[in-house]
Order: sequence, then C-alpha cells, then structure tokens
Amino acid sequence: MKKKPKHLSEKKKKKMKRPAERRNEFTATYACAVCGEENEVFIELRNGNKQTLVEDCEICCRPNVLNILVIPAAGEGDEDSILIDVEFEG
Ligand SMILES: [Zn+2]
Repeated sequence: MKKKPKHLSEKKKKKMKRPAERRNEFTATYACAVCGEENEVFIELRNGNKQTLVEDCEICCRPNVLNILVIPAAGEGDEDSILIDVEFEG
C-alpha cells in the first residue's frame, strides 16, 4: 500500500483574492486620435510606470499609440493618477 507524501498535497496554495486592493491594474479610457470615440484600455502597473501600448480603436479600428504615464499616489488617501497621450500610428 502506497501512501502519498503529505507535504506534496500541502504545497498547493490557495489563490488569494484581493477584491478591494486592485493597485496592480487600471482600466483607463482614451479618446481615439482618429475618430474621437472613447475606448477602454487595461493597464498593468507591474509593467512599469511608463508604458507605450498600441491599441486598435473599437469604432474605426485604427491603431492608436498610447503613451502612458502612471503617477503614484503621493500619500495616504491619495490615488494613483494616469496620464495618457494618444497618437495615431499613421
Ligand atoms: Zn477611432
């Protein structure tokens, strides 16, 4: 009779949910540089405070280059802010 080593099953970690703390991701909006429609963009903060993303507009399907700058909160009670500069990748 074989017994499974106990430590193996104990190694499985439960996934921790962090519903209140979502500091690693942002959903921001930007206005398309071509048609002006608002689009949503998902930004992962672990990729850095300065990011460049290319997103296709949902309305006109043109590529927008988003220069994203995340400004971390200055202190308690303050929130991170996000700046998005949109260019049309022509
Ligand atoms: Zn557009």
